[in-house]
Amino acid sequence: MIKLRFAPSPTGNLHVGNFRTALINFLYAKKHNGHFLLRLDDTDNERSKLEFEKSIKEDLIWANICWDSETKQSNRIDRYNDVLKVLIEKDFVYPCFETAEELSLKRKSQLSSGKPPVYDRASLNLSDFDKEEFCSKGLKPHYRFFLNHETIFWNDLIRGECKYNLSNVSDPILVREDGRFIYTLASVIDDVDLNITHIIRGEDHVTNSAAQLQIFDAMNAARPLMGHLPLITDLKGEGLSKRIGSLSIKDLKKEEIESISLNSYLSNIGTSKNTELKKGINKIIEEFDISHFGRSPTKFNFDELNNINKKLIQQLDYKTFKSKFRDETQILDENCWNIIKKNITSFKEVKEWNEIIFGKVTDNEIDKDVREVFFKTLPDGQFDENTWFNWSQKIKENLELKNNEIFKLMRKVLTNRMFGPEISELILILGRDKIIERLKSK
Ligand code: GLU
Repeated sequence: MIKLRFAPSPTGNLHVGNFRTALINFLYAKKHNGHFLLRLDDTDNERSKLEFEKSIKEDLIWANICWDSETKQSNRIDRYNDVLKVLIEKDFVYPCFETAEELSLKRKSQLSSGKPPVYDRASLNLSDFDKEEFCSKGLKPHYRFFLNHETIFWNDLIRGECKYNLSNVSDPILVREDGRFIYTLASVIDDVDLNITHIIRGEDHVTNSAAQLQIFDAMNAARPLMGHLPLITDLKGEGLSKRIGSLSIKDLKKEEIESISLNSYLSNIGTSKNTELKKGINKIIEEFDISHFGRSPTKFNFDELNNINKKLIQQLDYKTFKSKFRDETQILDENCWNIIKKNITSFKEVKEWNEIIFGKVTDNEIDKDVREVFFKTLPDGQFDENTWFNWSQKIKENLELKNNEIFKLMRKVLTNRMFGPEISELILILGRDKIIERLKSK
């Protein structure tokens, strides 16, 4: 059985880019009847917060991304220490004693003499005596993985044949001097122990992946398949804009974006497929195919997402709509909902139309004489679908205006809006009393 994971660090709210990674891993797992694990990378105990862990989970649940199992790196420190010991014994990992200032000085002098700022492995030359001296002075080592400076190859699930030359990469730090594990090693140990078969993440992890493949080898473990998604860019394709980069799922919820709209959109951007509203998460799983993803930039277009959301609202049946708005004091009945839903683009507008239909509408722009004509010509008897036209013709006999000008005035005086549902239908839901009230108010 295949097994994929989403491994967020709970150091902030889930943003769109990371959410997409979760979605794609989930879809891949479910498409192949596999297992989806949620792993919290919380070894950075200064920045990791329980509140973010909660909010990440809340956002995933909101989006119908359900995980089959869950794990937390902070619960596995003993295991990481055991593996570290073995890797040190086998000379894959070595202790280093440089301070942050020393390392920064080394980098500066390498750069100023035109060399790449690669760690020079000076600590490898320390004798046991030197190391003991450092320790007796109270210095604590940090640990680095000894990279094989070779070109590493893998068949990427998204990028195809990949190679990465590790000769200009510093030996990655695995454990800080305070004993905290960096996710580079912790992640590989988890992936090995928990039998992860596929890792899909952003392109910004390519260097990490190349180094981590060597750690899998050092642990004598099978390498998982890797896939690297192009990062989401803004519309100009110029890298992640601040706005999109910081666009969190919480922000999108505030914009009344529904999870199915977001899932539909994110499951198709970066592919050759058109973005469109999908019936539900199962439909998205059914249509998911990793080979549709390529290396072209993935542009995030908020208007496109909004259009999908708009379509969703316009298709919503009354029962679902009501379940969403059960807290409203006045609620549109089924007839009203079916009429207004064709014209609204977000759930925010539902509240506005609720106000327009049930509340007070005062238009201050239409002339009193015009209102009087509207009032006098209002047809008697039961309103039906022809009422608005008959009414408009009577108005026309009194005012020298074209049909479309009359319709505009009608809309303005009845709703104080320039756009909205068909006037013919609006008249029926407002009813005579409300119409008279609006014609008379000023
Ligand atoms: N915690 C890492 C991150 O959020 C996980 C990366 C990975 O998927 O391995 O970047």
